[in-house]
Amino acid sequence: MDCVFCKIVAGEIPSKKLYEDALCCAFYDLNPQAETHFLVVPKTHIASAQDITAETAPVVAHIFEVIPQLCKELGLSGYRIINNCGASAGQTVMHLHFHVLSGPNLGERLV
Ligand code: 5GP
Ligand code: ZN
Repeated sequence: MDCVFCKIVAGEIPSKKLYEDALCCAFYDLNPQAETHFLVVPKTHIASAQDITAETAPVVAHIFEVIPQLCKELGLSGYRIINNCGASAGQTVMHLHFHVLSGPNLGERLV
């Protein structure tokens, strides 16, 4: 499949990975919008949050266990989790991903 994040998961495109397990993968964003900015993606291709089903929801729940663990390990005291769902909401890579942003002066900025 011609999907950038599937290729990152498969190791076909290089990335700065910070975590990986059987279900998900976390890597730093190529174009960081904060001092710390990484993405967490399911290893299986789910196009967007709108495509989460009862079958795939456990992977999403798992990601929401992994995020606080990673943030704890990175020593982040506060962070923002963002998901853009659909092109009109700013989703540019059509493989479900959660942005995790942290750093001073995040302010009211949304992404
Ligand atoms: P979206 O706009 O879909 O919510 O976010 C996509 C994010 O993926 C963007 O922040 C963009 O910088 C990041 N991104 C796109 N291509 C790559 C890539 O090849 N490697 C990495 N590490 N990040 C990417
Ligand atoms: Zn994919």
